[in-house]
Amino acid sequence: MKSLKYFFKKAKKEKWAIGQFNFSTLEQLKAIVSAAERLKSPVILGTSQGEVNFFGIEEATLLRDLYRKKFPYIYLNLDHGKDIDLIKKAIDLGYDCVHFDGSILNLQENLKITNKIVKYAHKKGCLVEGEIKSIHGGSEIHKELPKEVLFEDIEKAKEFVKKTDIDSLAINIGNLHGVYKKPIRLNIKHLKKIKEEISVFLVLHGGSGTSKKDIKEAIKNGVVKINVNTELRIAWKKSLTGSLKKKIIKPYKILPPVIKAISDLVQEKIGIFESINKN
Ligand SMILES: [Zn+2]
Repeated sequence: MKSLKYFFKKAKKEKWAIGQFNFSTLEQLKAIVSAAERLKSPVILGTSQGEVNFFGIEEATLLRDLYRKKFPYIYLNLDHGKDIDLIKKAIDLGYDCVHFDGSILNLQENLKITNKIVKYAHKKGCLVEGEIKSIHGGSEIHKELPKEVLFEDIEKAKEFVKKTDIDSLAINIGNLHGVYKKPIRLNIKHLKKIKEEISVFLVLHGGSGTSKKDIKEAIKNGVVKINVNTELRIAWKKSLTGSLKKKIIKPYKILPPVIKAISDLVQEKIGIFESINKN
């Protein structure tokens, strides 16, 4: 079984990225897995705290294991973990990665807790993603852009990476969570500076609604993991609303178009990330 770290290294070397696709319902999960299987692309199933508290953390790990029998390179990440007990539980249950979001803490406090999590996670073969500066927005449709654009403080990031043994870092290069009226543009110049100074794997949050050209540039310049959530949520709601309008009541007739709509979108993202046929 090839680890997630194996694919991060491979992606970094070959300049492609692994998509993290979040889910909180079985249709979303089936859609992501079927696209991964069809395209032979490694994927990360993302669960935020809210998503996994709804879906069930044990259900998520058991289903990952089950789907791995069809296609092995399916990994689980706890997205924006803040609750230490939930992070520990995810590690104990065999999550492949946990993202500790200590961005609301001061640097010293963030360092301290991140280090504790890293020690616990690494003993169990789980990777840890760190975060220093909070990424704006939520996985929603936003009316207005935030007033300021955030950029990673490279000196702080260097110190953070030096003093922790994190595997990856969620960075700020103009990326935003959620979808806005216009495509989000990334600052590739800033990414190049980060790449020169930081050796850990670089993660781009806010993969929804971002300029396709910028995503491709970001991958060329060292981003190996891209998180997509909002666009999948929109596809889920739109297709489900459409499907519910039909005069049928059988769930197994209503839901297949929903799975297809999400799966087509995941397929499109996998194509942009160029993670097809990797093993
Ligand atoms: Zn995020």
